[in-house]
Order: sequence, then structure tokens, then C-alpha cells
Amino acid sequence: MSIVELPSLLCGERVEGQGAAQALLNPATEAPLAQVRAAADLGRALAIARERGGPALRALSFAERAERLKAIQGVLSKSRDELLALGIANGGNTRSDAKFDVDGAIATLSAYAELGQALGDRRTILDGEAALLGRSARWVGQHVLAPRAGVAVHVNAFNFPAWGLWEKAAQALLAGMPVLAKPATATALLAHRMAELVLDAGILPPGALSLLAGPPGDLLAHLGPHDVVAFTGSGDTGALLRALPAVVKDSARVNVEADSLNAAIVGPDVEVGSPTWDLAVSEIAKDQTQKAGQKCTAIRRVLVPEALADALVEALSERLGAIKVGDPARDDVTMGPLATARQLADVRARFARLCAEATPVFGDGGVTPLGVTTGRGFFFGPVLLRCDAPEAASVLHTEEIFGPVATLAVYDGTAATAAALVARGQGGLVSSVYADERKFLKEVVAGLLPHHGRVYVGSAKVAGQTAGPGTVLPSLVHGGPGRAGGGEELGGLRGMGLYLQRTAVQGDKLLLEAIL
Ligand code: NAP
Repeated sequence: MSIVELPSLLCGERVEGQGAAQALLNPATEAPLAQVRAAADLGRALAIARERGGPALRALSFAERAERLKAIQGVLSKSRDELLALGIANGGNTRSDAKFDVDGAIATLSAYAELGQALGDRRTILDGEAALLGRSARWVGQHVLAPRAGVAVHVNAFNFPAWGLWEKAAQALLAGMPVLAKPATATALLAHRMAELVLDAGILPPGALSLLAGPPGDLLAHLGPHDVVAFTGSGDTGALLRALPAVVKDSARVNVEADSLNAAIVGPDVEVGSPTWDLAVSEIAKDQTQKAGQKCTAIRRVLVPEALADALVEALSERLGAIKVGDPARDDVTMGPLATARQLADVRARFARLCAEATPVFGDGGVTPLGVTTGRGFFFGPVLLRCDAPEAASVLHTEEIFGPVATLAVYDGTAATAAALVARGQGGLVSSVYADERKFLKEVVAGLLPHHGRVYVGSAKVAGQTAGPGTVLPSLVHGGPGRAGGGEELGGLRGMGLYLQRTAVQGDKLLLEAIL
């Protein structure tokens, strides 16, 4: 593959960047694939999106916007093989990892297209019933949701360039807001190609979709009061975005999806070799190695009662031992590299700190990758650690290792201890419980609810039917309190709330029925 210069795709124009180039690499071979430079005049791009893209989208009904989403889904599906190849080359994804990202994007577009069709031929949504405001049945108030008048700026993380782009864009476009997406630079090739395909197909009105390739520059300094920033990435960058003048002074909306120390709890009733046990083992091992552990929803802490700890170490080690690490372009490889040199350095440093309070029981990160020149690539092999005193641990509960690393934390088997240990993560995206005993489940789930955006109960009856806690679904909310960013996306109409203004309209009941 030759090195290409990626232009930004701003309001219908291909805009070449300026200044120093930043290379996008194949993380398995370190070969450069493309390069980007900073784009200028981002204030103008936002203004065009607001002035042309916004009104054009708002003139369409939900059903008409849904048709556009369906058409985007069609264009991307047609180029699926090319897109998977880009995920493999630039993201370090195995084909299966790339499918998770690309097919996840297509499925989310499809779900929002269906929702839009159901909303039908209207441009606003009635929120609940009209409320009677006086003695007369005519004087009422009705809450209405209408698209916000600004632009939706989407700043995405490196790990899901395809899904990250479209899960956000599907919600905003359906709501009626134009989108300017900024993928993470290191893995931008896939998102860039997807946006290019969609723009070239002429599906969306001019100004409705833009993609900024390369660094954010002064993009966020041009935000206005009606704009929305939806961010996915590290908590540190999320904190910077929350402090933007447009957010603090002008009330631009911000949604942050950040780090999470997701946990899996194995209940004391689970028997080794039972369906619930097998479900836990297979989902924990999958989460640890899918996308080389670079999933915001991946299980980092596994709480296990002492009586089951040795058996779980053995079962997970067997799974991890079967993982073949190497160049993900090879069919026999089941786990690729980390996405960047920076991620590798970060994972190594955090793993070293975790070793002060937990003991590696499988692997140490060192690996001889298949099909790769010695010394090349950002590889880190799967590691399982064991911590017998999780109450006394600190790194375990505070540092997310964004790689194929999980720690078994031995607990006393009570729901109260399990919930209290998980809560030490200070807010998470998802935690899972593997158990069948109802009293335990009732208590532990109640303990987890305030600390999570999603709770997953894996029991014997659902074994074999679930996609695991690591799969984010368009019908369920994604996000979580505290460390996880405090945001909320997806969940059908719920996630679209970010892009809609809720307004209470008061007036004569029949008149309001006619005009709303
Ligand atoms: P990051 O450094 O915060 O980068 C994320 C995005 O923010 C990138 O597009 C980056 O652009 C951009 N960015 C960085 N600094 C910025 C600034 N000052 N102004 C505007 N944009 C800026 O995050 P990361 O370390 O690459 O991502 C990994 C983290 O993301 C992990 O901690 C993971 O937990 C989290 N994550 C969370 C979710 C979730 O849904 N909750 C999903 C995936 C990942 P450049 O690439 O150009 O620097």
C-alpha cells in the first residue's frame, strides 16, 4: 500500500492540511500507510455546517433522515471487504476484530434507520402527554423535542474508528444535526474512507457531514451555544473539553465517554464446568483478547471467590495459551498488536505498577509475534494476574490498562464485598455478574446499579445466547457515571436526546395538537 496524504473532508470540499505531517502506521509492521497535516479554517467549516447542513437536515422528516441512514448502510456494506482490510492494516485488528468494528457500525446505522422510520413523517417528537395547566381542559403544556440549531462535533477514540464514527453520527443525523467528526489520528484511515464513500455517494445534504483528518487544531475554540461535543477517549482529554469556554460560558452541550475499570463477578454458587462457569470463562477470555483488550468495555477486574480462584486461573490460562499473537493480516493469528507505540508504552508502564500489588499467573506481556520481523510492531501478549488482597490494592481499582490484561481479585464470596470492590473503580461503563442464585444476584445487582451505565447478568439460561458484556448495543445505553465520563449514548431515542432541545409549549390544546 503506498503512502497517501489524507485531506480533511469539510463541507463537501477536500481540504489539504498544512505544516508537519503525522504518519499513520500499520501497528504490526510499523510501515507508514498514510499521513495527515493540520487543517486550517475550521471556524468556517463549522459555520457552513450550521448554516447549510443544519437547515437542510431539519427540513427532512425523521423518516427521510432514516432513508439517508439506510443508504449510508448500503454504501458501507458494499465496500465491506475494503473497509475490513483498512481496519486490519491501520488498526492492528484481526479480521474478526475488524468485523466487530465495521459490522457494529453498519448494525447501529440500521437500528437508527429503523427507529427513524418508526418516528415517521414528522420533524419534532412529542415528549409525553400534554399536562393540564388550569381549570379548563384547553389550557395545556406539551413537551416537544426538536433538533438543536448547531453542529455536532464528534471527537473519537482510536480503538473503534468505524463504530465510533457511525454510532455517534447515526444519532445526530437522525436527530437533525449536521456532524463534524474528528477520528483519532493514529487509526483514521478507516473512518476517513467510510466518510469519503458516503460523501461521494451524495447521500446527505451539503454540509451535513464533515471529517477532520489530523489534529483538532483550534476546532473547539469555534464552538457556539447550540453546538454539541460528543467525545470518546481518555478522562484527561474529557476534562479539557468540559472546561472549554463554549461549554462553561455558552452552554454548548458536552457528552464524555471515558475510561472504565469494568468488572466481572463470579458468584459463589457457580460450579466449575457448569453452563454459567463456561459462559464466564469464555466471555472473560474473549474480552481480554478481542481487539488486544483495547475496548472501553473490556473486563479488567475479575472478582472470584477463593474456592474457585485456582480453577479460574487454570481455565483462563488454557484459553489465553491458545491465543496466537502476530500480524493480524494472517489467518492463523487471533490477536494483533496494540494500536500505537504510545499505547504500548502506556500498557507496559501500568502493568509494571500493577505488579506491585498483583502477581502475574499467565504471561508477562513478552511475545514473539507470528509473521513479524523481530523487534517490529507494538505487541503485548495476554497477561492474567492474581491479587489475593484486593481491598488493600490501589492500582487495580484506579488505573485502566488498555490492553490484554486482566486481574483475578479474590473476594469472600459475599455480594456486599463484591459490590464494594467494584465500586472502587469510581464509576464504570459495564460490569457483569455470573451467577444463578437469586438472593446473591439481587443484592449484587442493586449494589452495582448506581455505579454503572450497564449491568450484565450471565446465568445458565442465557448461556450461548449472548454477545457478552463487551458488546455495546444500539438499543441499550452506553456510558457510565464518574470515571466513565458521566455520558450517555445510544439506547434508541435516549441517546438522541443530546442532539434535541426539549421545549415546553403552552397553549390551547386543540391548537397545539394542530401545530405540533
Ligand atoms: P485521547 O488521547 O483522549 O484521544 C481521544 C481523541 O481526542 C482523539 O481523537 C484525539 O485526537 C483527541 N484529542 C486529544 N487531545 C485533544 C484536545 N486537546 N482537544 C481535542 N481533541 C483532542 O484518548 P486515547 O488515549 O487515544 O484513547 C484511549 C482511551 O479512550 C482509553 O482510556 C479508553 O478507555 C477510552 N475509550 C472510551 C470509550 C468509551 O466509550 N467510554 C471508548 C473507547 C475508548 P488525536 O488522535 O489527533 O490526538
